[in-house]
Amino acid sequence: MSTVRLTIENAIAFITINNPPINATSHSVRSGLVDALDQIDGTDDIRAAILICEGKTFIAGADVSEFGQPPKPPILPDVIKRLEATTKPVIAAIHGHALGGGLEVALGCHYRIADSKAKLGLPEVNLGLIPGAGGTIRLPRLVPVTEAISMITSGKPVSATKANEIGLLDAIAHGVLIDAAGDFAQTILDREVPKPLLRRDPVSVPSTDEWDDITVATKKKARGQAAPLAAISAIRAGIDEGPDAGLAFEREKFIELRDSDQSKALRHIFFAERSVAKLPELKGVAPNPLHQIGVIGGGIMGAGIATASLLAGYDVTIIERDDAACANGRATVEKHLSGSLKRGLISQDRFDALMASLTTSTDYAALANADLVVEAVFEDMAVKHDVFGKLSLHCKADAVLASNTSYLDINEIVSRCINPKRVIGLHFFSPAHIMKLLEVVRTDKADAKSLATAFDFARALGKIAVPCGVCDGFIGNRIMSAYRKHCEYMLEDGALPHQIDAAMVEFGFPMGLFAMQDMAGLEISWATRKRLAPFRDPAERYVALGDYLCEMDRFGKKNGLGWYRYDENGKAQPDPEVDALVIAESEKKGITRRDFTSAEIMDVILTAMRNEGDKILSEGIANGADAIDVVMINGYGFPRHKGGPMFMTAKKD
Ligand code: NAD
Repeated sequence: MSTVRLTIENAIAFITINNPPINATSHSVRSGLVDALDQIDGTDDIRAAILICEGKTFIAGADVSEFGQPPKPPILPDVIKRLEATTKPVIAAIHGHALGGGLEVALGCHYRIADSKAKLGLPEVNLGLIPGAGGTIRLPRLVPVTEAISMITSGKPVSATKANEIGLLDAIAHGVLIDAAGDFAQTILDREVPKPLLRRDPVSVPSTDEWDDITVATKKKARGQAAPLAAISAIRAGIDEGPDAGLAFEREKFIELRDSDQSKALRHIFFAERSVAKLPELKGVAPNPLHQIGVIGGGIMGAGIATASLLAGYDVTIIERDDAACANGRATVEKHLSGSLKRGLISQDRFDALMASLTTSTDYAALANADLVVEAVFEDMAVKHDVFGKLSLHCKADAVLASNTSYLDINEIVSRCINPKRVIGLHFFSPAHIMKLLEVVRTDKADAKSLATAFDFARALGKIAVPCGVCDGFIGNRIMSAYRKHCEYMLEDGALPHQIDAAMVEFGFPMGLFAMQDMAGLEISWATRKRLAPFRDPAERYVALGDYLCEMDRFGKKNGLGWYRYDENGKAQPDPEVDALVIAESEKKGITRRDFTSAEIMDVILTAMRNEGDKILSEGIANGADAIDVVMINGYGFPRHKGGPMFMTAKKD
């Protein structure tokens, strides 16, 4: 069946693309478009054309099955030039998403009209690329150059309203899109066909100083990624050297980036994120329908999980120890939702409705109708046993029961539950209403239905759900513990905390390990270490520096002193007192300190991650190396454009 159809009605041609699911610019669409345009130009009766898509969306990207294959003509840049050269005006009628090559096609049209819910964007930088079919040259000739830069370097799509404001659209469709496009066509029939964007002047070109500022700001945000800066150079080439030279430059940069390690890494993680939760054993297993979610504990995590569940449309009940704790939990959820309200993400009406969907109680009987319950109480086995005992008594027989424990053995938690096959782990990351990652932990007895329900819940919450088995720390915390140990060894062997952090930031982490510990607070891990001290293997190397800091009342950022000293603005400064403590410890242990370069520091960290990752794989805790990369990128700040520790350290052919 052809993916492009041409119909004619009252002198208007309708070019309809039907290439589900995203109407990608596959070869059949590209050649179909050229054929349709040839026919339109050759038919005198046709006075204008409307390019519209069937299904859920306008053209929302390229055909991934063509990735890595030699391009088959007509290639997209030529199709868009052909569009521009059409002698009759072509109107892009956009619904859903016009993304990447889809927006570039729309830019090749003479007019653009969109449904009010449509989103338009050039997300190529997310794959380490820049637009490759004229987007960097045409967009700044339609919208102000700074808006084009923002869209292309951030990769974030804009709403139809914003697109209309900046000039990307000629109109927003009210009512049925095809009818609105038809009406719009009538208004332009007698006008001259507009000049193609390629032949227009750029809109509001920045001054030299502004260009410099933009480049500096983009470089800072890009944190080592090449594509956003390449996008700026392409946009600038198109303006300074003219559109034709610009197009050639854009193509050259596109090909260079496509073959780069960064783009390969970003494409790896893009696909890994989309496949990590697809488990063959859950295929065809129907999840339980979910309406009411229970959350036990309204502390940091519980309130975040409750917020995320409300935003996903569920009724939520928080169970707490007493009325004051109930009020606290409710207030924290309210604070999170107020944040969304202030940022314009939800309306006042939605805010009110969400707060009305939240109940708190001290009585587990309130969970009689809950379909899924997440426990987020203190990290203490006795407390967890008590909670799961009550859940077993009060919840429906098929309610899925999940623990958010960070380190406790969930199989042990489950051991005293009635009906253990419905108990699983759902390990959220803080702040739980914002962080995308969720480790879905398979307990020994969990059945497929409970797991399928958990993945369905994760999807509704907009999380990236990574399946994993039960072990100390699951995937992410276990790898972090492993590399933290090696960072501590490096302190005694010759590095200083700020040097290790600087190496990590230079590599692309948003912050280093020690700054991160300061931010989280040092006392919780201190308490854990004290608790585990009697069980520690005396032969194992132990670094006590973190304990010393706590003994000196240095608990991290919140009290102004930790691995760093914090100034009145909360900015971290390396502290000579900590350096002296570190050096004295090496002396005490008789270790001759040596210098570490940034490359050596990162080599130690990556090797530690790789080794622990290999152990996790050999124990069957993670389903594959991809899962480990997804966890480290989405939960632990590993730079996305490096593809994750397993991808980066994999042996290349
Ligand atoms: P928190 O101390 O902020 O909150 C715990 C809440 O549980 C408190 O409000 C407390 O009143 C309530 N609570 C305690 N016993 C209860 C009971 N028997 N019934 C009802 N409520 C009870 O702790 P948190 O940081 O939210 O951590 C909760 C759990 O989530 C822990 O298992 C922790 O390991 C895990 N976790 C924490 C993080 C994090 O970054 N904080 C991340 C992932 C997982």
